[in-house]
Amino acid sequence: MRAHAWQNYRTKDGTTPSAAGVEQLGDMLVVNVAPGCEYFTVRDDAGHSFRCSFCGYGRFDKRSQTMGQVRGQVDLDAALLGRLEEVLRVAAESGEARHV
Ligand code: SF4
Repeated sequence: MRAHAWQNYRTKDGTTPSAAGVEQLGDMLVVNVAPGCEYFTVRDDAGHSFRCSFCGYGRFDKRSQTMGQVRGQVDLDAALLGRLEEVLRVAAESGEARHV
């Protein structure tokens, strides 16, 4: 599926939609501003991971770093939420995404 026009949008501080936590997946708009999962790397005394057994997703990685997510810190940066609002407003106005 073609890229939606809102993907060319840059926030006031020059951030791309994906760095603001919004991506396009087909005709769907995916929002994830905190991709790192606190359960993902924690292990019990026997070495078993606390992460959900089906999940290969929630690693703290470049995505979470890009969004300024810090392990162990639940509150998100207010600037991140501002960028998210900017992108979602533009995406909604474009009317291209069929669902979120
Ligand atoms: S599904 Fe994955 S990302 Fe979600 S809580 Fe479980 S381990 Fe974390």
